[in-house]
Amino acid sequence: METKERFHNRVLSTKKVGEAVEAYYEKCWSDSEKGLPTAWGEGIAYFPLIRAAGLNYVFADAMSARMGAKKFPYAKDAAADFGFLDESCSYARFHIGASRILKGDYPYDKSFDLKKIMAPLPTAYFNTDCCSAGNTWGDLLSRYLNIPTHTVYTRRVFDKSEWQPEMDHVVEQLKEMVGFIEKITGRPYDWENLKTVMTYLKQSAAMREKLRNLLKMKPAPLTYFDVLSTFSAFTILHGMPEAPVLLDQVVKECEDRAAKGIGGVKKEKYRIYWIGAMYWSRLGYMAEKMAKMGVNVVGGTYDYMFFPFPEEIDPDKPLESLAYAPISCGYTTDNNMAPSMSDWRIVKDLDVDGIIVWEAHTCRLQSGTNHDRADYIARRLGVPITYVQGDFVDDAFFNEAQFDTRVQGLLEVIDARRKGKQGD
Ligand code: SF4
Repeated sequence: METKERFHNRVLSTKKVGEAVEAYYEKCWSDSEKGLPTAWGEGIAYFPLIRAAGLNYVFADAMSARMGAKKFPYAKDAAADFGFLDESCSYARFHIGASRILKGDYPYDKSFDLKKIMAPLPTAYFNTDCCSAGNTWGDLLSRYLNIPTHTVYTRRVFDKSEWQPEMDHVVEQLKEMVGFIEKITGRPYDWENLKTVMTYLKQSAAMREKLRNLLKMKPAPLTYFDVLSTFSAFTILHGMPEAPVLLDQVVKECEDRAAKGIGGVKKEKYRIYWIGAMYWSRLGYMAEKMAKMGVNVVGGTYDYMFFPFPEEIDPDKPLESLAYAPISCGYTTDNNMAPSMSDWRIVKDLDVDGIIVWEAHTCRLQSGTNHDRADYIARRLGVPITYVQGDFVDDAFFNEAQFDTRVQGLLEVIDARRKGKQGD
């Protein structure tokens, strides 16, 4: 049988992260059958607080991405039937649709095993107001499922003098969140366990830093898509002991490849930085497509989300570390400051040839800031940009022909500039 040539040398140990995530969802289901609660949430990641209380917790965006990756069409349909326009946040739509299905309010093809697609219905919901869609999405779920919800309110900060007051503001709310968690669990909060959770988070961040450093190599022994394959180690498995162990295996495999001169793509011709989120339903497709064009995407936005910098995590100051995270990743900083806080720290050492800016059709907030971030980087590095359109999980907004044309155009500009330099 003829085997198809592959251009993306996938880092194989990333599969173990996927297996651990599936095992985690199974645990949520079996615990729920025993009457133990599962919480859902979205927005800025204060989830270590929930993990430390011993509650099962599912990050809404990651669960929506899982539904998209498993090509489950009914969540989106159930949200549309509820009155949601296709243009509204796809994470919200997939989540609200999942709630309707789990509640038995919307029919679906029973050959799909819901346990392999979504988490059990939540008994509490956590959200943040960094985006108005996120906030109202939490309120809606709270009313629809008749469950308590807790919201952390963040403010936009415009200069460094506002960091500390904003951190104090968030720390106070995190203390209130602990009170909310105590009511759900019916027991005093385990502050010692929070330190342990933060320690695992710090260890995971150290592994992610090693991967980021490996991506600086030429050729890089992995791709950004491999990093994204480990993403659930810090969204779903965050603060769990297995997370740093799994990431360590990925690091070791990449170090071994680096020693042998094996690249993440077969022939690395272009190095690209990716601004924005990802087409989660097409991660493997995208990795292979880019590799086939000789493109190694060596970094991107999600590398600096969800506690990526070990030096910013102090297990002895957990609330302060959590409160600093949205500032550090540029989420609550204004658009002038955000790129220097986040993208620039990562991209400046990657020696990239160009930038791809991902626009999310259903997320105005991220699409807008992505343009400013790209402009900041492109001007400093003197590299070209292209813009591609799609969505996190709603595949209907992705157009292969448009994507190909835009990326080909970017590569042609890079080629022309290289030729120009040779002729100088
Ligand atoms: S619209 Fe964007 S920022 Fe808002 S909740 Fe959806 S994905 Fe998050």
